[in-house]
Amino acid sequence: MTDTQTSPYRADDRGYFGEFGGAVLPPFLVEPMAEVALAYDEAKRDPAFQEELQALLHRYVGRPSLLYAAENLTRELGGAKVYLKREDLNHTGAHKINHTLGEALLAKRMGKSKVIAETGAGQHGVALATAAALVGLECEIHMGAIDVEKQHPNVVRMELLGAKVVPVERGGRSLKEAVDSAFEVYAAHPEEYLFAIGSVVGPHPFPSMVRDFQSVVGREARAQILEAEGRLPDALVACVGGGSNAMGLFDAFLEDEAVRVIGVEPAGEGLDTDRHAATMTLGVTGDIHGMHTKVLLDAAGEPAPVHSIGSGIDYPGVGPQHAHLEQIGRAEYVSVTDAEALAAFQLLTRSEGIIPALESSHALAHVVRLAPTLPADAIIIANLSGRGDKDVDFVAERLRG
Ligand SMILES: *Cc1c(COP(=O)(O)O)cnc(C)c1O
Repeated sequence: MTDTQTSPYRADDRGYFGEFGGAVLPPFLVEPMAEVALAYDEAKRDPAFQEELQALLHRYVGRPSLLYAAENLTRELGGAKVYLKREDLNHTGAHKINHTLGEALLAKRMGKSKVIAETGAGQHGVALATAAALVGLECEIHMGAIDVEKQHPNVVRMELLGAKVVPVERGGRSLKEAVDSAFEVYAAHPEEYLFAIGSVVGPHPFPSMVRDFQSVVGREARAQILEAEGRLPDALVACVGGGSNAMGLFDAFLEDEAVRVIGVEPAGEGLDTDRHAATMTLGVTGDIHGMHTKVLLDAAGEPAPVHSIGSGIDYPGVGPQHAHLEQIGRAEYVSVTDAEALAAFQLLTRSEGIIPALESSHALAHVVRLAPTLPADAIIIANLSGRGDKDVDFVAERLRG
């Protein structure tokens, strides 16, 4: 699969999806990122690389993940038949392992000894530390000092997995400073490290590369729905933080123009407050983290502080392919509040005995709206990007309070 302009949905050689994407970098990062782009370009054409990744996805992650017909939920909602792509059943309980394994294999292929990244809530850090442990690489995770305190269980997991967790004490001691800190270390030692980005964001080649690693989700779902129903679905629904689980599901269906593609963003406490992360809905065109995309800015023109009940989707930018798909009318983006996500979390848990991640609950909340508006012979596939065990204490407290 090559990223040439043979498809209007894919990036050109410089990583531009229409006007979005590219590699908007300070001079000291141009060379290291070009090296990654070249290495990935070779790796993706190398059958041995692809076979090694597919083998790990099968025998380590447990793929293919189920495409589950949620009959109780379907009955409860009335209307379209709802299928769930069960990424929550993957080893480590979410979709992120699909791309961290790809990144770890690429690092090894490039002769690097370490992978490095920042993490906010810790989910990317844990997924990367897991892949590094398996593949035999060192792993260094930079994390705002505030997040280190808030996300103690994930810090413990990363350390048990052998990762070095670096608390970042400067500035706001949060994700933004962790990004800067990790990039500084990387820029000083690009021969030792691969910088492993956690979503379909950042400079070229990451939006295309992480999508390719995640695209197994949609390839499986496409084959599974054809097997189960003998036809393609009417709509796909997935939550969007940076947008990797969504692009993973969407990619295999983009050429099937009749399939509606819907991304769901966090409206947090409401689009009329400043406590949300609805970048596609309310963002403007700008640069963030090495890419030209849509971004939420504050009054000073800096990336805005964002909020969501789903800690993995509170990001002020979005993958450039999403911005492009919306602009050309191939995908729609809607938003869901914390309260709606919480209600969907409870609904799935009670109706199906499946506890979804609060991030994934955003996709489910839109399914709750959409399914009753469609006829009973319509089909929706929602991406259940992760399991909700990590969220149960928080949810229980919210429901009590
Ligand atoms: C990290 C995470 C997300 C958000 O990331 P995307 O790149 O937007 O997919 C969604 N769901 C879960 C379970 C996550 O861990």
